[in-house]
Amino acid sequence: MTIEHHFHSPIQPPRRTLMGPGPSDIAASVLTAMAAPTVGHLDPYFLKVMDELQEMLRTLFHTTNELTLAVSGTGSAGMEACVVNLIEPGDKMVVCTNGVFGGRMADVASRVGAEVVEITREFGEVFSVEEIAEVVKKEKPKVLGIVHAETSTGAAQSLKELADVVHDAGALLLVDCVTSLGGMPVKIDEWNIDAAYSGTQKCLSCPPGLAPVTFSSRAVAAMDARKTKVSSWYLDMSMVRSYWGGSRAYHHTAPINMNYGLHQALRLVLEEGMENRYSRHYANHCALKAGLQAMGIQFAVAEDHQLPMLNAVKIPEGIDDAAIRSQLLNWFGIEIGGGLGSMKGKTWRIGLMGETSRGSNVLMFLAALDQCLL
Ligand code: PLP
Repeated sequence: MTIEHHFHSPIQPPRRTLMGPGPSDIAASVLTAMAAPTVGHLDPYFLKVMDELQEMLRTLFHTTNELTLAVSGTGSAGMEACVVNLIEPGDKMVVCTNGVFGGRMADVASRVGAEVVEITREFGEVFSVEEIAEVVKKEKPKVLGIVHAETSTGAAQSLKELADVVHDAGALLLVDCVTSLGGMPVKIDEWNIDAAYSGTQKCLSCPPGLAPVTFSSRAVAAMDARKTKVSSWYLDMSMVRSYWGGSRAYHHTAPINMNYGLHQALRLVLEEGMENRYSRHYANHCALKAGLQAMGIQFAVAEDHQLPMLNAVKIPEGIDDAAIRSQLLNWFGIEIGGGLGSMKGKTWRIGLMGETSRGSNVLMFLAALDQCLL
């Protein structure tokens, strides 16, 4: 009897232009960096890469926070890392939910044993400082969690002045910056944010796999004052930080080549200059908006809180959502996102994140969509 081996074909993905809610297009130099030889996770070379990553992440987060690093895992691992380290069972956490990712944060918090108070807004709307002030004054939570850039709806949440009301109530401010980091200002120190997490596959234009996080000294003090062990071994910052910080104690085997990729992606961000990068994202958002409006397509989010990197637009009457998205993909190699939750079937989400945010992509997309809508 012979054993038959079936050999699969090698990986040869189609060429796409990633104009959805992430991942975004990746620069060739980032992919090249990821193909560099793997060294050990305690190799002096890799330790230097880690130090440089921390330094670059601080610049990107506009912070001097010592505890700033890249958690192994995607954006959701960053979310869990923040929640699980700041919350002990029975602690109260207020979560502001105006989209899928606020809802996910509330779910994570409840799994960690928090007493979750969720304040909600319709998808696409944002929260006012006044309503948050009222809730934290009444509830006196340990942590208030909010999403800066709600990828599911395209809404930008203002964070200015939020920390004052949260701190006045004795709480810590936790912010989801998965989609905002690298595409619009995330000013951790100026806005007094205590903990924030992000992901690599949005405006940083690195494949998914790492979650940049940063914690203020106030957040670190809260973690140091815990009475119970962090319920996740893998995400316990008291151990993870010893590996990234002074003692270099082995915790888990860092995904070496992912970190190479992030190192190169951050170099590209800093080489461009962050202000230039924010302006580029905004300019291409405006160009896309002008083109879509000329075609009679309206944004799903009010003008004053539209995200520059994620454009949620209303699908025109009588148009088949899935058919148009598959035509864009099959005819033009363009990926865009459909709506999530209450916006499913009603909106398209057009990403202009990181490398994808280019004038040429805006023009190609407008021409392609025009063709598909004929
Ligand atoms: N938060 C926001 C705002 C997101 O957009 C995403 C991913 O789309 C996440 C959290 C979760 O990140 P990941 O899918 O990388 O785990």
